[in-house]
Amino acid sequence: MAALSPDTKAKWLFGSKLPYAEAPWARGSPSPYYNDSHRRLRQAMRDWTDKYLIPNVQEWEDAASLPDWLYKQAATDGILMPMAAGSTIPLDWHGKFPIIGNVDPQQWDGFHDFIIHDEFGRIGGVGVENGLVGGVILSGNARIALAITEPDAGSDVQGLQTEAVLSEDGTHFVINGMKKWITSGMYCDHFLTLTKEAAGGFTLLVVPPSEGVSKRHMAVSGSTAAGTAFIDFDDVKVPVNMVVGERGKGLKYIMSNFNHERLFLGFQALRCARVCLEDSMDYAITRHTFGKPLTEHAIIRFKFAHMSRETEALQAWIESLIYQLGQLQPGEAEFLLAGTTAQLKAHAGLVLEHVVREAVQIMGGIGLTRGGRGGRVERIWRDVKALTVPGGSEEILLDFSTKRALKIAAELTKDVTKGKL
Ligand SMILES: Cc1cc2nc3c(=O)[nH]c(=O)nc-3n(C[C@H](O)[C@H](O)[C@H](O)COP(=O)(O)OP(=O)(O)OC[C@H]3O[C@@H](n4cnc5c(N)ncnc54)[C@H](O)[C@@H]3O)c2cc1C
Repeated sequence: MAALSPDTKAKWLFGSKLPYAEAPWARGSPSPYYNDSHRRLRQAMRDWTDKYLIPNVQEWEDAASLPDWLYKQAATDGILMPMAAGSTIPLDWHGKFPIIGNVDPQQWDGFHDFIIHDEFGRIGGVGVENGLVGGVILSGNARIALAITEPDAGSDVQGLQTEAVLSEDGTHFVINGMKKWITSGMYCDHFLTLTKEAAGGFTLLVVPPSEGVSKRHMAVSGSTAAGTAFIDFDDVKVPVNMVVGERGKGLKYIMSNFNHERLFLGFQALRCARVCLEDSMDYAITRHTFGKPLTEHAIIRFKFAHMSRETEALQAWIESLIYQLGQLQPGEAEFLLAGTTAQLKAHAGLVLEHVVREAVQIMGGIGLTRGGRGGRVERIWRDVKALTVPGGSEEILLDFSTKRALKIAAELTKDVTKGKL
C-alpha cells in the first residue's frame, strides 16, 4: 500500500517541492489557523509576486530604485490597503478599496496579514518589499514614510532633537531637524515624523511636500531597492491639522506602531529563512562533490537539520503569537504581548543569521554571486542586518522583553498578595 493517498499528495505538492520550502499549512498539513480565504489570498499573492516582482527584482536592486507603476499596480490590485491596515481593516475602509484574493474585509485577520508579507518574501531579500510597504498611501498616488530615527537618536528614541514650534497665530508648526535611514524616503513626498515640542512632549506630524524639506539617498549594505534616505527639515511650515492624534502623545503612538512593525520583520525573516533552505537544498541535491551529491554528505544534512528545526520552530511561534494577538482586546494584547513580540523579532533575526550563513556555506561560490542561482541567498546575506537592526535592535528588544515579563508578573501578582484573588 502507498504511504500517501493521491489526495494527500495533491495537497502536499503546493508550491516548491523541496523540503522546508513551504510552510506546513500551505502544503496541506492540518492547521487550526487557516481557512479557504487564507488559501485564496496565498494563491493570489503568489501569482502577483510571480508576475510583477520576481522577473524585475534584480533590475530594481541594481538600480536601487522602484518604478512608479509598482505602487499603482499594488493599489489597484488590492495590496496596499491591507498592507497598511495590518491585522484588521478599519470599518470606514470597508468597501472603499479592493482587497487581493477577494477577501471579505470583515474576515480579514492577522493570518491574512502574515500571508501578504510571507508571499512577498519569496522574492528573496527585503529591499523591494520595504520600498513598497515603507511608503504607503492607500491609493498609490502619494507616499508616506515613517521618519523617527535621527543622527543622534536611534535606539534611544526619546533623545530626538527635531523640534516643532507652534507659530504665534497658532496656525502652523515650524520644524527643524534631521531624520536618518528613512526607508522609502527617496520615494515619498509625505513624512510621518516624530518631533519634540519646547513645552514638553513628543508630537507626531504628517509633513506634506513643503519648502525646506530636502532628502538624499543613503547607500546601505542591504535592502538596496528600499530607497533609504537622509531627510533635512529646515524651517518647514506644517499646518496644525497635520497633527496625528493628540499633541504631546506621539511617543505613545509610535511605540504601539512598533509592535506591528516588529511582527512583520519576523514574518520577513521567516520567509527569507525558507528561501535559504529552498535554494541551498536545490543546489545540494544537484551538486556533486567527491562522487556524490552534497545531500549525501552527512555534515551537509546536519546543516539542513539545524536550519530547518530553527525555521519550523519560528513558524510555530509566529502562528501562535498571531493567534494570541487576535484573541485579546487591543489594550491587553499590547500589555501582555509587546514583550513577546519584541523577543520574537530578535529571535527571528538570530534564526535568519544562522540559516543564511549555512545556506551561503552550502552553496559555496554560487551563494556569494549576485544574480542567477544564488541570487536570492546572496541578497538575503546582504539584507540580514537590515532585519536585525531596524525596528528595534536585538539588545534593546531582548532587554525590553525581560523587563516587560517582570512587569506583567508584578501586575498579575499585586492583587494576589493583597488577598484579592
Ligand atoms: C536599513 C535601515 C532602515 C531603517 N529604516 C528606518 C525607518 O524607516 N524609519 C526610522 O525612523 N528609522 C529607520 N532605521 C533606523 C533604525 O531604526 C535604527 O538604526 C535602529 O533603531 C538603531 O539605532 P542606531 O542605528 O542609532 O543605533 P544605536 O542606537 O546607536 O545603537 C548601536 C548599537 O548599540 C546597541 N545599544 C544601544 N543602546 C543599548 C543599551 N542600552 N544596552 C545595550 N545595547 C545597546 C544597539 O542595540 C545597537 O546594536 C533604519 C535603519 C536601517 C539600517
